[in-house]
Parts: sequence; C-alpha cells; structure tokens
Amino acid sequence: MKLGMVIDLQKCVGCGGCNLACKTENNTPEGVAWSHHISQTTGKFPDVNYSYVPTMCNHCDNAACVEVCPKDAMYKADNGLTLHDIDKCIGCRRCERACPYKVISFNKGAPHRNWQDDTPLLEGATSSPKEVLQITGAKNSPTENPERGDTYAVTRPRRTIEKCTMCDHRQNVGLKPACVEACPSGARVVGDLSNPDSEVSRLIRMHQGRPLMPEAGTKPNVYYIRSFGVRAS
Ligand code: SF4
Ligand code: SF4
Ligand code: SF4
Repeated sequence: MKLGMVIDLQKCVGCGGCNLACKTENNTPEGVAWSHHISQTTGKFPDVNYSYVPTMCNHCDNAACVEVCPKDAMYKADNGLTLHDIDKCIGCRRCERACPYKVISFNKGAPHRNWQDDTPLLEGATSSPKEVLQITGAKNSPTENPERGDTYAVTRPRRTIEKCTMCDHRQNVGLKPACVEACPSGARVVGDLSNPDSEVSRLIRMHQGRPLMPEAGTKPNVYYIRSFGVRAS
C-alpha cells in the first residue's frame, strides 16, 4: 500500500475549498496551514494569464523532512504516508528548512489561545470566548473537531511543527481526506499508487501525471494531471 493523490488541474477552479476543509478538519491554528496553493498572474492587461495549483505535503518516498529529523519525530508509515509524532518533536525546525515544498508550519505561539480571552466581542451583548468554553464544558475550543484527536493532538503544543497527514484518521476508517470530500469539482482523487488498477494509477497513466519539482529528488506521491489557464482578453 502506498497512498498518494492526483490533482486534476483542468477540473480545479481555484476556489480554495480544500484549504478551508483542511483547516476545519484538522483544527489548524491561526497562521498555520496544511493545505497550500501556488497562484501566478503573468502578462500585461489585456493579455493576462492566471494559474492556480493546489499544493500540500507530497508524502515523498525519499522524504527530506524524515532524513533530517534528529528525533525520529517525522517518519514514514507502512501505508506510505509521512507522519509526525508530536510527542517526540523538539521544534528544531530542521524539517521545515529541508522540505523543498515549504509545506511545514511552525506553531510560534499557543494554538487557539483566543479561547483564553475573557473579553466579550460586544460588551454587554455577547459572551467572551473564555465564557463559551466554560459554559460548554469543552477542554479545547468548542469549534474544534475532536475526531482529529484519533491520531494527532487536537490542540498542539507551542513551538512544534505540523503538516498534512493526508487525513490518515479519516482514511483509517474508510473516509476520504477532507480536501477530497470538499472539492466541488472532483479535482482531487486519493488512492493506492502501488495498485496498478487503482483510480489514481489509471489517471497518472492516462494523463502522464507529473509531480511538482521532481528535480528535488524526494520522489513525491502527489501527481498533477492536465492544466488550466484562465485567459482574460
Ligand atoms: Fe516531507 Fe516536504 Fe516531502 Fe512532505 S513534501 S514528505 S514535508 S519533504
Ligand atoms: Fe523532527 Fe520536530 Fe525537528 Fe521537525 S521540528 S526535524 S519533526 S524534531
Ligand atoms: Fe481546486 Fe478542488 Fe481545491 Fe477548489 S477544492 S481549489 S476546485 S482542488
């Protein structure tokens, strides 16, 4: 089993739904993202081109982040995913510097600290975030997804890194990653790259799928097929 993803750039409309779904599913705090994109506008009006490429951790076979980690906190799982053990992480940020795709984030401050705030949004009219937490009896933010805690801490410690896990907690129970589920155009497909009959393998063969920056030598497992360019004229 080697989990990977195919992103169809002809189907992608650049809505950013994958980024929002990822953020909600994985409780990523302010300033931290696991789902990214590269957008580019080239040319000069009226001859302008726009391109949008969703990006994420590529769960590389030769993962640079795993190689440099001094604590084995970043590791390859049996299903091919590159995962992170937050309890072992010392926040040295070597992985962040080593990743050619820049998809690792660092928690500078205490995540979700706004829930410790005792200032009401509207004085005399609304509760403060701290009161909401007390009233609901929640240990963390009441808006956080507790299911994320199956394989990764819901609220992360300060000064550690984090990144996409390809929603391992969802795939473990037969669900698709949140970004795949949320994509309105079906641009993202997840599956087993080691199975030649899987949908991902079929799409890569049919459309000559290519990874981002293969020259980095990390052997990424996210493939892109086709292309889409918006031409304003
Ligand atoms: Fe590691 Fe970066 Fe590859 Fe993800 S994309 S496995 S963080 S080197
Ligand atoms: Fe390993 Fe954590 Fe250091 Fe990254 S920040 S290299 S996961 S110990
Ligand atoms: Fe593209 Fe789908 Fe992400 Fe929207 S949700 S940006 S269509 S991949």
